[in-house]
Amino acid sequence: MLNTAGTELIMEDGKVAGVKAVTADGAPVTIHAKSVILATGGFPGNADMKTQYIGGNWNVYGMMQNTGAGIQMALTAGAAPYNIDMPPMAHFVGPSVITREFSHEDNDIPYGLACTGECLAVNTKGVRTLNEALLPFEGYTVGARFYTIYSKEQIDILRTQGISLDAAGRYLSQGGIKADTPLADIDTVLQSGIDRHFIYKAATLDELAAAIGGDMDAAALKAAVADYGTYAAGAADPLGKNADLYKRLGAPAATSEYYIAVTGSPYIYMTCGGVDVNADMQVLKADGSPIEGLYAVGADSMGVLFTNKKGYANYGGVSMGYVFTSGYVAGKNAAGK
Ligand SMILES: Cc1cc2nc3c(=O)[nH]c(=O)nc-3n(C[C@H](O)[C@H](O)[C@H](O)COP(=O)(O)OP(=O)(O)OC[C@H]3O[C@@H](n4cnc5c(N)ncnc54)[C@H](O)[C@@H]3O)c2cc1C
Repeated sequence: MLNTAGTELIMEDGKVAGVKAVTADGAPVTIHAKSVILATGGFPGNADMKTQYIGGNWNVYGMMQNTGAGIQMALTAGAAPYNIDMPPMAHFVGPSVITREFSHEDNDIPYGLACTGECLAVNTKGVRTLNEALLPFEGYTVGARFYTIYSKEQIDILRTQGISLDAAGRYLSQGGIKADTPLADIDTVLQSGIDRHFIYKAATLDELAAAIGGDMDAAALKAAVADYGTYAAGAADPLGKNADLYKRLGAPAATSEYYIAVTGSPYIYMTCGGVDVNADMQVLKADGSPIEGLYAVGADSMGVLFTNKKGYANYGGVSMGYVFTSGYVAGKNAAGK
């Protein structure tokens, strides 16, 4: 049965007795069954759940149709969540909005500006928390959004010299910014990002913080720029960035004609946490007892894999090892074999 979305569990005497669903044409379907296996792949496509459980509406490079339906059905039936707030799987960063209107090379300018190790990056509060050289693969530690900060002087260098390292959005693009290649069209591309509200431009850092909005703290941002300036001038960087990465762009100037902020975003493959299950993949209530007839596998229950309090870590592979193994175990038990 394809193109049919499960929407609601059928409960009888506290046991799961089937599922209600709806076809792509909107026709309701009722399926009576002695067991239901939830396998709806977590909640990467559900902005509200991402905000509630994992601290923000993370960009997704994966299955947007996975809206947490199975987890929601289980929670409604009395399931306990398990590690549902654990960090999502994220391997790379890019700009929060993809640019497609220019040449391949120019479309990648925001990638370069969002993840080059030569820039200053701050979190949503204006605090620098990560050595920018690690942004491409560890940007997720900063959160669902971060900002890379440039002053006009640095944009001028980028326009005429480019950046000194290859930088790309990793996997999102087979292109990227080639080292030492002038970014002649940078102003046009920046304006496009400003128009689409993921790049900000302002005359002062106070105004830049106000333009970004949210939790951005102007005092913290100004302190981050000032501190970063001392590292560019030779002081030891407490986050350990190599001095070579300060050579070309230095730091945003203390005063400048304008400042630019590019919104960066880790792209998540999937969410990991879900509902609690036992070794038979039966969904558990908060008191540890199973909800009869209900199983959860894959990303709907993968929180049990990432803890030393459960015995699942021997399943090889993250996450496909758990996906296949949990499905096998649940299927066998649901079929009563
Ligand atoms: C680009 C990318 C690369 C990855 N690389 C790796 C890797 O190298 N190694 C690794 O281990 N993992 C990797 N992963 C993660 C891995 O693919 C997922 O963790 C895994 O597919 C999750 O399996 P699942 O069965 O829980 O969910 P999925 O495979 O996402 O399947 C869930 C299915 O449920 C369907 N569905 C959703 N809602 C409903 C509903 N209400 N009713 C009915 N059906 C519904 C969806 O359409 C989907 O077909 C990668 C993921 C991505 C996106």
